[in-house]
Amino acid sequence: MLKGKTALVTGSTSGIGLGIAKALARQGANIVLNGFGDVEGPKAEIAALGVKVGYHGADMSKPAEIEAMMHYAAETFGRVDVLVNNAGIQHVALVEDFPPERWDAIIAINLSSAFHTSRLALPAMKAANWGRIINVASVHGLVASAQKAAYVAAKHGIVGLTKVTALETATTGVTCNAICPGWVLTPLVQKQVDARAAAEGLSNEEAKKQLLAEKEPSLQFTTPEELGELAVFFCSEAAKNVRGAAWNMDGGWAAQ
Ligand code: NAD
Repeated sequence: MLKGKTALVTGSTSGIGLGIAKALARQGANIVLNGFGDVEGPKAEIAALGVKVGYHGADMSKPAEIEAMMHYAAETFGRVDVLVNNAGIQHVALVEDFPPERWDAIIAINLSSAFHTSRLALPAMKAANWGRIINVASVHGLVASAQKAAYVAAKHGIVGLTKVTALETATTGVTCNAICPGWVLTPLVQKQVDARAAAEGLSNEEAKKQLLAEKEPSLQFTTPEELGELAVFFCSEAAKNVRGAAWNMDGGWAAQ
């Protein structure tokens, strides 16, 4: 379905971003990876799916590096047809204890980076009259949890950005939607499992069960593979009139 097209996925060396990159590659899209940590492993996983793969190590908190990444993608692959804004970090603390530099970093990486990539990708998408922007928000773009002020603010913000982008592209072949996952067992969440296990003297399994029981009625983690398939649907012809949606895949979390 996406043969000949190029997808750039921010924060795709791990977790959800890598799951989405693999799902898009299975549809034939060439992939531009981004993110920290091991790069060769994810690159090899994508290449094994028979598509071209590139990588840019831009730090999503730095607008100049984001510009360099977008130039790299356009020069190497011609155009970014599918943009997945996925890079994100978390910090958990009460508002009055929240380190201001953590607030700034979360707003920059989880929200502002999507503004920068979108503003740089949109002219070519509009010129081609085809494009897909998929913002990985969170169920925390729809509802709040205590101790996640910056994350919840950024995720509500990216849902707002999604709606504005969708309106500004509504009469074109470019769509913009958000995905709102509940708990997904990635390194970002494993840190929260570890913190709970340490604080309450629980095993890893008990801490995971507690985390799910508190918020997610299905008592199941959403997987990067499932989120990848939702991204594939947003890229499909059938989804061409899905615009400005904040689509939760959260085991019923936001339905409560
Ligand atoms: P993860 O920690 O597994 O992956 C995060 C990715 O972002 C990694 O590739 C990392 O290298 C990259 N990254 C971090 N800081 C970066 C920066 N400054 N510049 C470039 N790349 C950077 O986390 P994940 O759980 O896969 O999270 C991916 C997205 O999904 C995030 O936006 C997160 O908020 C969102 N999300 C996660 C969950 C969950 O339960 N895991 C739920 C809802 C939403």
